[in-house]
Amino acid sequence: MALDIVKIRNDFPILKQTVHNKPFVYFDNAATTQKPVQVIDRMDKVYRETNSNIHRGVHYLSDLTTRHFEEARETIRKFINARYDHEIIFTSGTTGGINLVAFSFGEKYISRGDEIIISAIEHHANIVPWQMLCERKGASLKVIPLNSDGELLLEEYDRLFSSNTRLVAITHVANSIGTINPVREMIQTAHQKNVPVLIDGTQAVQHGKVDVQDLDADFYVFSGHKMYGPTGTGVIYGKESILEELPPYQTGGEMVDQVTFEKTTFNRLPFKFEAGTPNYTGVIGLAAAVRYIEETGLDEIVAREKELLEYGSRRLSEIDGLHLFGQAENKISILSFILDDIHPFDAGMIIDKYGIAVRTGNHCAQPFMELLGIRGTIRASMVFYNTREEIDRLCEAIEKVKEMFN
Ligand code: PMP
Repeated sequence: MALDIVKIRNDFPILKQTVHNKPFVYFDNAATTQKPVQVIDRMDKVYRETNSNIHRGVHYLSDLTTRHFEEARETIRKFINARYDHEIIFTSGTTGGINLVAFSFGEKYISRGDEIIISAIEHHANIVPWQMLCERKGASLKVIPLNSDGELLLEEYDRLFSSNTRLVAITHVANSIGTINPVREMIQTAHQKNVPVLIDGTQAVQHGKVDVQDLDADFYVFSGHKMYGPTGTGVIYGKESILEELPPYQTGGEMVDQVTFEKTTFNRLPFKFEAGTPNYTGVIGLAAAVRYIEETGLDEIVAREKELLEYGSRRLSEIDGLHLFGQAENKISILSFILDDIHPFDAGMIIDKYGIAVRTGNHCAQPFMELLGIRGTIRASMVFYNTREEIDRLCEAIEKVKEMFN
């Protein structure tokens, strides 16, 4: 069934405002999505009614909030179809999650001469932690190249493996141009060579069904704020068998079992990886975001975003002097483009004056921009609450930009 777009837009209070005296158009969803009242109200309720630190308390509110926090873990488990609750680790976001794995996995399994495979289309968050790990350990990075449509070259990927390959870390969906990578097949390839795989799912979980068991991912990492949830929340899914073997990353309260001045033993999963007071209010808000996505219907969301992508791609391709990047067969609703002889930053500033938020720059993917031979793009990233009328407004604003520069 098609989505009730009036109802949906009413769920997102921020969309109702005007910016520079124009109705606000938000096309910066790949940077962060807006939040529905269902999430805002749920977090408000924590602070007004139940706030109390979790896990250690014997009193009523501590117990209640602990229950809500652990129910959120179960909600996330079901959302991505993990086998066990304790395979879900809460973090501050994807960056926090990848750093955790890079340190913990790196400490145990990476040594001099080892190799880690990443791709040319990664966000800096899935490059730099591995690069730093390689520097610390004397290991090296191997990079999967792309074709001109922004698709990874799978034969080249196959050739990058050697007896020294210890991990593959790739994005499910590219934030710069929206390519959906064939991660299921790529995981199979790695597993045939006994190499575990980390998937950066930051741009994927909100745009299509993710089943971590079907993918057979060893780690799957994402951020709450890009899926209609609060900032400062994120998830690492990790297979039990691997997480059990990994040393903790941060240490302190919560993650311990017995502490003496001579020796400390660690708590069981998932608490071993959740040192200190977690962002329980955020996590409870994140579960509300998942419920919102599920109640709206992920299939309906996907269908609507596909329609917006088709419409937007067609409208933008009709504009003279506009070059769209990323024509992968499989992609999410991201339109990344440049305008002849106009710096993306200048274009973005003018588009803003029409009340339209787009992002300009390298999208934290400098190596990929370098491959394209450009410094950056203008990126309009759309989600199910966006409309065709908003795309029309973007096209009008682009025409104004061109007029100004000609
Ligand atoms: N990976 C991808 C693909 C992303 O799009 C982003 C955010 N733009 C990140 C990682 C980093 O996420 P965060 O800033 O929420 O940690």
